[in-house]
Amino acid sequence: DPRLAKIASSIRVIPDFPKPGIMFQDITTLLLDPEAFKDTIDLFVERYREKNISVVAGVEARGFIFGPPIALAIGAKFVPMRKPNKLPGEVISEEYSLEYGTDTMEMHVGAVQPGDRALVVDDLIATGGTLCAAIKLLERVGANVVECACMIELPELKGRDRLGNKPLFVLVSSD
Ligand code: IMP
Repeated sequence: DPRLAKIASSIRVIPDFPKPGIMFQDITTLLLDPEAFKDTIDLFVERYREKNISVVAGVEARGFIFGPPIALAIGAKFVPMRKPNKLPGEVISEEYSLEYGTDTMEMHVGAVQPGDRALVVDDLIATGGTLCAAIKLLERVGANVVECACMIELPELKGRDRLGNKPLFVLVSSD
């Protein structure tokens, strides 16, 4: 798709952020280009509009940028998957491993029902731990996770393998 080259070139890479040795993929420059931002949303909407998705689950924080416009366009509800102690209502939690230590993701009880068809959205997949936690939360309440969608995949980290048989759709692969 000719739109992908422009999307890829609008993502900025910042070396040594947040730590030395890390090449940080920064999507804020994509947001500065309305055409690239719209093309990004359109590509996801074109893929998911006929898939009977009933819930778009967005992972804090950048899943909150891309998830809602996709949800609105395909007629699905939007559910935020948040860092601990941010959601005010009753939550379920899932702990997951990071490079050093662990983190926790939370989702409101009652936001997702058994039988909901879910799409998980984040900006980037690295090791896949974050998406796995989101999938677990959704499956614990009986949702069917149809696919995960990210702007960027870091294929060297093999996050796709960690998702097992769960389909992953990405726009840009970054080596
Ligand atoms: P994973 O759990 O190892 O797959 O890491 C993915 C999570 O870390 C996502 O929520 C990303 O937003 C974040 N992340 C990791 N590396 C980058 C990066 O280079 N740019 C933007 N986000 C990143």
